[in-house]
Amino acid sequence: MSFVKITKNEKNKRFREKVMELAGDNIQICYQCGECSGGCPEASAMDLLPNQVLHKIQLGNEGVLDANTFWICSSCLVCSARCPKGIDIAKVMEALREISLRSKKTYVELEALTKKELEELPQIALISSFKKQTS
Ligand code: SF4
Ligand code: SF4
Repeated sequence: MSFVKITKNEKNKRFREKVMELAGDNIQICYQCGECSGGCPEASAMDLLPNQVLHKIQLGNEGVLDANTFWICSSCLVCSARCPKGIDIAKVMEALREISLRSKKTYVELEALTKKELEELPQIALISSFKKQTS
């Protein structure tokens, strides 16, 4: 039996390409101007700003999946409208949600949430949770 050795660089490249495939966009052209983060209405609740998320994806850093950014994102499209390079950042956030859900990491356990938490939880997190639990 022959084994294929996957190096760290190859793993990083695969992750980066998977995000770009799902988002349908070339993230490599981001030049870190910060316009997306500057206009994001949810930025104060994010542990990584949208431009920082883009940078981690450029590096192929799967650790970006531990950030809360793409769950907090409300898909308002402000970032996508502001990006001078035409990157649809909202779609990138959706791609990260998809990858996270496919990895079977449980992110939202509805039964464990209090009524107050349910009231405050971003709607997109609830929708993603329902998607996962019913598919
Ligand atoms: S789509 Fe998401 S990341 Fe972009 S500005 Fe709106 S909340 Fe922020
Ligand atoms: S606005 Fe566009 S080019 Fe600027 S940091 Fe955000 S994604 Fe990158």
